Amino acid sequence: MREFDLVVVGSANADLVVGVERRPAAGETVLGSDLVVHPGGKGANQAVAAARLGARTALLARVGDDAYGRMLLDGQRAAGVDTSGVLVGRVPTGVALITVDSSGDNGIVVSPGANARLTPADVRAASGLLAAARVVSLQLEIPLETVAEVVRAVPPITRVVLNPSPVPPTELPAEVLAACDPLVVNEHEARVLLGESRGVGDTPGEWAAALLALGPRSVVVTLGAAGALAADRQGAVLVPSPRVTAVDTTGAGDAFTGALGHRLAAGDDLPTAVRYAVRVGAASVTRRGAQDSYPTAAEVPAG
Ligand code: ATP
Repeated sequence: MREFDLVVVGSANADLVVGVERRPAAGETVLGSDLVVHPGGKGANQAVAAARLGARTALLARVGDDAYGRMLLDGQRAAGVDTSGVLVGRVPTGVALITVDSSGDNGIVVSPGANARLTPADVRAASGLLAAARVVSLQLEIPLETVAEVVRAVPPITRVVLNPSPVPPTELPAEVLAACDPLVVNEHEARVLLGESRGVGDTPGEWAAALLALGPRSVVVTLGAAGALAADRQGAVLVPSPRVTAVDTTGAGDAFTGALGHRLAAGDDLPTAVRYAVRVGAASVTRRGAQDSYPTAAEVPAG
């Protein structure tokens, strides 16, 4: 039996949030609310989401030897994530500087910091951890060459889940796309990956078909309150989300993807895993925050 259901390779950020009446113009200073600091980053979020649900989860990431790095490590361990693969170095922990104005719009500056220093050599050094996983989950807040090295390093039996966020300015390498089972995208990511000019149509089913033509073994398109579409070469299934009162959708996509990895590792087929993941995503939007909003298995609404 392999030691981990899910190994997440990805980012860990401190989210620094300040509320402002309006964002400053160039050269201007405005006063904001008290600073609130949350653990974040897509990799760290997905690991916490899966571990809260009961998956045996490990994180391969980089943080700095600083207070934010310690906060992130504490958050992972409190959720039950194995942090033996989190490397601590001299480059500062990644930070997202977030201002939220009075109409609720965000302005975000990300300093990738240590996340940008997670290298292919780090991946090769962690081959034992990767070989211990049933499912490996990836996003793109770490260098693309590092993601490509993970795809090369995992045994063929290991299932790879990729959420290509943020979408890179260049096309994804064919070897990365070919490993995805599934490629998990939201509407924005689907449109950017497919390009506006290719005339692929306007429905999630058409996007999924066009994305499958790029090479992944399967595709999931998340659709916010409308749920998600699961597709492979045999067909597509639209899974509606339970109706909930959304309070804060921050990190819903990471809750969904962490839950998806958890259920795929447990042996669910893709539509069954998506049916569970939409319930987890829906539960996460009923509470404030990202990691703070993620449910335990007992808190997931009935299907
Ligand atoms: P984010 O960037 O906010 O983390 P995302 O854009 O990557 O999210 P979404 O498609 O918005 O991803 O949401 C992921 C999943 O979360 C959806 O498939 C759905 O299951 C759930 N979800 C999101 N918003 C809602 C909502 N308003 N009501 C119910 N479920 C929701």
